Amino acid sequence: MDIFKLAPSRQDYFELTEVSYFTRTQRRPPYSAKTKSGKPLFLAVCPECNNPIEIRNLGPIDGENKNYPLRPFGKHYIFDVPGLALSNPISYSTCSLRGKISIGTREHRGNDEFNKEILRLLVEQAAVVRDLIATCIGVTVGQTLFERIIEEFISREAYKSKGVQPANLPYAVIYWSENQNLWGQIVNDNKLIEAINNDKFGWFKINADCKIQSTQLAPFKSGIRFYFPQHRKGNDLSGEPNTITLCIARYHKEPLGEVIYRKTISYYNNDFFNTIRREKNYQSESALAKNKRWSEIAMKIVMKYRPDSLVDYNKSESKLSL
Ligand SMILES: [Zn+2]
Repeated sequence: MDIFKLAPSRQDYFELTEVSYFTRTQRRPPYSAKTKSGKPLFLAVCPECNNPIEIRNLGPIDGENKNYPLRPFGKHYIFDVPGLALSNPISYSTCSLRGKISIGTREHRGNDEFNKEILRLLVEQAAVVRDLIATCIGVTVGQTLFERIIEEFISREAYKSKGVQPANLPYAVIYWSENQNLWGQIVNDNKLIEAINNDKFGWFKINADCKIQSTQLAPFKSGIRFYFPQHRKGNDLSGEPNTITLCIARYHKEPLGEVIYRKTISYYNNDFFNTIRREKNYQSESALAKNKRWSEIAMKIVMKYRPDSLVDYNKSESKLSL
């Protein structure tokens, strides 16, 4: 996992980086411990299931990691740690932050409070989520498309999926967005522009404003749509990134279209958190207005399906600290 917290009783949780971990735990017991054989053992608490977790890959500091500079990650540590947390196999068994869970699993996590946290993070960081989605697809993602994507994600209860976690939120949102219309979107990706302009059927072209438009050749009820058929989780131990595959297809009458563009996008577990941090450093008036605008759009949809996730909460803020 890519996040940790300091005690079961606390609600706030943190991005897992070496600096954040050592700063917040002050390298003190019970966080800094030793294994039975005397090796360094770094511990914290799982933000979802409250079990102890062990922090691995803490750079060269433990003197054992040859793979530095891999990112640290947390792994459940199912033993009682006096003074920190007791192990709870039942909450562990339904925890979504366990390592090998696929982003597309339909299995729901056991902790509904964490489902609400996913929605709060989505509302709070809607502008960043939209930016990362736009980068993946290669289009600007206008308001209507953004609303459709978010509504699909929430109405299908994908936010409850064990595979949807704070660190992968933008990628999970698009993975679960099913099949969405791209007509009228502004394209930013040159390869996508080429693919659309050079498609043998010539039904769609990119106009002078870089928007996808139909041509006179396009038959009635033709369409151009995107979906993400595949996601592959990377390997925390080797530093291999995650990948997600985009397909853009041309449609007409038949339920299945012909793929005209395919792209595999790589991303690391810390990309979302890093982008949030970068955006926070540019808190210009226009950036704040942009954040507010997209948050309000996401909030309306959350309020339609899960109003309880935003009540009793300080301005619907997530508990993530970077
Ligand atoms: Zn857990």
